[in-house]
Amino acid sequence: MTIFERIIAREIPATILYEDAELIAFRDNQAQAPVHVLVVPKKAIPSSNELASEDAVLIGKMVLVAKNIAKTEGIAESGYRIVINCNKDGGQSVDHLHLHLLGGRKMGWPPG
Ligand code: 5GP
Repeated sequence: MTIFERIIAREIPATILYEDAELIAFRDNQAQAPVHVLVVPKKAIPSSNELASEDAVLIGKMVLVAKNIAKTEGIAESGYRIVINCNKDGGQSVDHLHLHLLGGRKMGWPPG
């Protein structure tokens, strides 16, 4: 069981900003920006490599939830970044698919 499944099960606490039957969104506990929120499907997909065509709507909903949280967090106009890390070179550390919403500061490009 990953740490995110334990958050979904309320076994460990998190600052939850959004939840529905399919998704949960909570603040990253090692924030890399003034706004750093993780949008996580409740379905335990290990990484973007395991996404199937049946998950297309789910991935779309993850982006829409991130967009809505960007607005409520006040970063929609200033801008933000949506990131999905995959495996070692992508910097993935939790093997449960998730999207990062980062904003509230200027992001560098290219990423380090
Ligand atoms: P990844 O590196 O896999 O793309 O992102 C995993 C993220 O999960 C990291 O940014 C990390 O700070 C965050 N994270 C890891 N453990 C916890 C936790 O117990 N609670 C919260 N809120 N975030 C966590």
